[in-house]
Order: sequence, then C-alpha cells, then structure tokens
Amino acid sequence: MPERKEKFYLTTPIYYTNGLPHIGHTYTTVVCDTVRRYKRMRGYDVVMTTGTDEHGVNVERAAKKAGIPESEFVANMAEAWRSLWDELGIAADEFVRTTDIKHVRAVQWLFKLCKENGYVYKGHYTGQYCIHDNAFVNDAKPGENCPDCGRPLETLTEENYFFKLSAFQKPLLDFYRKNPEFIQPEGRKNEIVSFVESGLKDLSITRTTIRWGIPVPGEEPHVFYVWFDALTAYLSAVGGPDYEKRGMWPADVHFVGKDIIRFHTVYWPAFLMAAMLPLPKQVWAHGWFLMDAAKMSKSKGNVVLPRPIANMLGMDALRYFMLREVVFGQDGNFSYDSLVTRYNSDLANGLGNLASRTAALIEKNFAGKVPKSAERQPQDDALAREAQAAIGEVLERLDKMEFARALEAIWSVIAAADKYLTSEQPWALGASEADQARKGTILWTTAELLRIVSALAHPVLPDSTAKVWALLGQTTSLDSLELDGLRWGQLVPGTPLGKSQTLFPRVEKTEAIERIESMANEELNSASAVPKPASALATPATPAATPAVPEKIGIEDFAKVEMRVGQIKTAERIVGADKLLKLTVDIGTEIRQICAGIAQYYEPESLIGRKVVVVVNLAPRKLRGVESNGMVVAASVGPEGRPVIAGFLEDVEVGARLK
Ligand SMILES: [Zn+2]
Repeated sequence: MPERKEKFYLTTPIYYTNGLPHIGHTYTTVVCDTVRRYKRMRGYDVVMTTGTDEHGVNVERAAKKAGIPESEFVANMAEAWRSLWDELGIAADEFVRTTDIKHVRAVQWLFKLCKENGYVYKGHYTGQYCIHDNAFVNDAKPGENCPDCGRPLETLTEENYFFKLSAFQKPLLDFYRKNPEFIQPEGRKNEIVSFVESGLKDLSITRTTIRWGIPVPGEEPHVFYVWFDALTAYLSAVGGPDYEKRGMWPADVHFVGKDIIRFHTVYWPAFLMAAMLPLPKQVWAHGWFLMDAAKMSKSKGNVVLPRPIANMLGMDALRYFMLREVVFGQDGNFSYDSLVTRYNSDLANGLGNLASRTAALIEKNFAGKVPKSAERQPQDDALAREAQAAIGEVLERLDKMEFARALEAIWSVIAAADKYLTSEQPWALGASEADQARKGTILWTTAELLRIVSALAHPVLPDSTAKVWALLGQTTSLDSLELDGLRWGQLVPGTPLGKSQTLFPRVEKTEAIERIESMANEELNSASAVPKPASALATPATPAATPAVPEKIGIEDFAKVEMRVGQIKTAERIVGADKLLKLTVDIGTEIRQICAGIAQYYEPESLIGRKVVVVVNLAPRKLRGVESNGMVVAASVGPEGRPVIAGFLEDVEVGARLK
C-alpha cells in the first residue's frame, strides 16, 4: 500500500538578472540538483526551486543601456537562465521569477502580515544618493563620490517602511539555540550568532526612489526593496498565501553562497517570525571556487563558464569535479588543469574504463549476457563486502552533504574492482568448464559492483551512470530506483547487456583546455549587452542553419561569394561536439580545415575523396572551439534540417569555381 511520502523542499538562491550564469551559480545549482536527485532516490516527495531576481535599480539601468523596456530585458534574462539550466540537465521543479504575479501577491501578503502584527512602521531613511544613477549608495559617507559614475553624492532623506528587526534579537538567538542544525556549516554559526548578539538595527524594506519594483499596495510610489522581495520567492514558489495546500513549506534547506548567509539566517527567519509563518529548517552556505585573479581575464579567454566545459567534457564531468574537488562548505580552487586531470583519471580511466572493459569481456565470453556467479573465492567475497559497505557509507555521507567523501568512497570501490580484474585476469583463463565458471564469477562480481556504483553515483553523475545502468541491461529507470533497497547480489544472471557506448572519451589536456577557453571566448563575445536566449548562443552555425535570404540580390552580390570545387581528404569526429565533423578539404590552391555540422548524418569514412562545393572566402571562425576556414554547401532537408551535401554528377576538377 503506498504510504504518503515525506516531503523535501530545497532551493537555490533566486539569481540576480543583471548578468548571465557563471561557474559560481552553477556550483550552487548543481549541489541543489544533486540533493534533489538523491532525496528522490531515498523516497522523498521532492521540490526544488530556482529562479531569477528581476527587480531593482541595476536591472533598470541594464535595460536602459540595452534600449529595451525592463519587462523585456528580464524576460530575456529569465529565459537565458532557464534554458541554460535545461541545457545543463538541471531540472528544477519550480522556476520562480520575481516579476511573476504570484510572487508579487506573496510579497504584498507577507508585508501585510508583518504590518498587522506590528513589525512594520513608516520612517525616514537617510543615505548618500547619486542623482545621476537614481540610487542610494549603501555604506557611503557624506562627501564621498559615487563608485559607479564618480559624481559627488548627496545626502538624501526619503520616506521608507521599516521592518522592526531589532525586536528579533532574542527570538533569533533562541531559535539558533533550539535548532543547532539551522546554520551550516558549523563554522558559520558563530559568525551569525555574534552578529545578532551585537544588536540588530531596523531594516528599511521599501524605496520611493526606485521605480522597477513591486508596489506596496496603497502606498505608491513605495516599492519593496531587495531582500523583502527576493527572499519571499522561496515561499511564493510553493503557494505563497496558499502554502498549506501545497504542503511543501517550510523549506528543508536553502542552499546559498557564503556571501548571502546573513540575509538567509537573520532577515528571512525574522520576516517569517513577524508574519507568524513556519521557519526553514536549514540554511547551507557553501564556499567559493577561487581562481588566480591574474589568470581570470576576458582577453585571455579563460573566464569560467559552464557551457563550454559541458560541451567539451560533458556536464557530468563538471558536476563530478565541483563536488569531488572541495569539501562542501569550504573554498576550493578551480583550474582547467585539475578539471581535465580528474576527468581523465577518475572518469575516463576509472569508471569509464571499468565499464567498457567489463562489458567487452562479457560480450566476448558470454555472448553479451550477464554470467552466473559460481563457486566464490575469498577475494570475490572481499570485493562484495567492500561494495556492500560502500552503500551504507555513501548514504550517510550524502545525508550530511559530504559530497567529496561520498565520491571518495565510491571511487575507492572502483579502484578495488580495477585491482581485482588485474589480479584475477579473466582474459587469461581458458575455455575449460572450470575456467569458464571462474570467468563467470569474476565478471558477474565486477558487473554487480558496477551496478551498485552506478546507483550510488547517480545523483552526482546522472547521465553517465544511466548509460552504465543501461549497459548492464537494466531496464528500470535509475531516477526512480530506491536506494534503500539497494543490496549486493541483485544482478540477475542471463540479463542481456545493453548497447555499448563511449562514456568518457579520453582527451588530450592542452587541446581540451584550449578548446574550452576558446568556446568561452566565443560565448562571451556573442553575449552583448542585450541578453539572448542561451540556446541561441550555443547553436553552431551549420550549412543547414543558413537562413533564407528574403530579398532578391544582384549578380554582383552573388559574385561576392566565391565557391569552388573541393575534395575531402580527411574527416573526423570532434570530442565534445556531437554535431560537427572536422574536415580537411583540398580546394586546388590549398588544403583547408573546415567544420561541418553533419556528424549526425554522415560517417566520417564515407566522406573521404568526395567532391563538394566549398565557400572559400568566408571569414575564418571557430565552431565549438575548432577553427573553420570555409564552408561546405549542403541542402537543409525536412523539418529537422537534415543536411545533404551538394555534389556533382559528372567528374569535376578540384578548384574549379562555381558561377
Ligand atoms: Zn553615480
């Protein structure tokens, strides 16, 4: 009989929309997504919320600079963020925009509750104001200049609504004491406690000098200011005033960067206490990925963006690196060098190699069906015990957000299996009945270990573990597997293996880093002040995607395009670019390297020697980090735009011009 599942509600910060996501946002969101997947595999009814914070003077300014209305600017931004998470396979259940009407209502409702309970009053805020930028400069002193435009600041007083934060010093300290797990990691708690102990000042929560914000009902031109608006998004995402109906509030955990922990552990619980609403159970603040400041520069093309890494190595590689490399809660170092090193050692040579080796041996010796485990030897049982023990350890680690330790435990089992295969040498055994039985035992043991490892690593590496799962012939979805039922010994002999696939193709480090940096550069250069949907930035221009020319052109326009007969000399696939083939093409006077978006429709070998039409005077460009010098002409066929390469029915001379 199905029981009602326990709920688990978790959130990322609601990201500010004056820029596009970088590695820091990706880190918080990946952590949240990992916990979401993990909790689901532990049988919870999970909701994960992310979203965009779309109000404030910075958005006003950015929209003005882009020459579009704020509403359009933030709609583009929200779309860019949402589609990036989609592309990276991060599937939040709720994407809340602070311009959504349901959020606007939730903020106004929370304000009303706080006001009715006597924690909101009208007062005056005095600060240093830049008339040019229409904004207060927080923490500036009289007589200082504006940090944004350099003009002199003026002391300005405006009417504001204040929140009586000072009334919550004792309630907050009591709350921290009664809920010792509320602030994580432990080390951050002291910092917050002493901040609260040192006394809390009332907080201005509305502005009359900002236009782009949620109006305070009946009090226009007051609009809500930053935190009262943004923090409420966690609640508005799961019902706002009707939160009880959805049953998700309070949040089980808010994941945040360490820079915004104070707002989440002081302001937010105080607002909720004032409104007499349930408080979140935990706020988890993670550290930052640090990079050598000198190394991070746009001109060097090494600004760290998630998409180029995902394109080159796969998103699982980035997820694995971020969670494996640093202790969650502390700062860590980010470098492409260690990213690619870990990719090659832990993923390509570790998990990837174990899976493909095991599958190949089963294919060869047992006609692609999982063999039987016959008489077991002590070393078989030792490995079994290790894998079984890892189940308990990994679950315990993941419960405590110790991602690095959990992955360490999984990878130590993978290493043990590698060692086991190397010492048992199933490939050296003969065809006698006894040898065949021994082979079966060894390979069943390795395959069973892989099954367990895939299940345990799935929350972190969702794509690649699902591939191993399918390779082992498992037909159920790994997402819905209940980790609590995972035991050694469940792999059924006779199960036919799935189709083999490359998990983590090994990459050459220098080349991989160059490609990632070059793709990051392309992305940064194409992201102008006006945000575009992220998907548009990611689509490489292929012959099939060339848009139709709407108007008629003169012959002189056509003559500008120099097309010649070329002959394909070599063709190869490009790691990290599923759609592209790298071609070398003889165009008579020289050999050109050209990338073509035809990899899904043409086998590289079938193209060698083929005569094609090449646009030779196209400016060189980089596609997915690979230089392309020219274009192979192809028709775009059918709704999916299948490319069909243009060719000749008669033999033609290489280099001949098309007119
Ligand atoms: Zn200014």
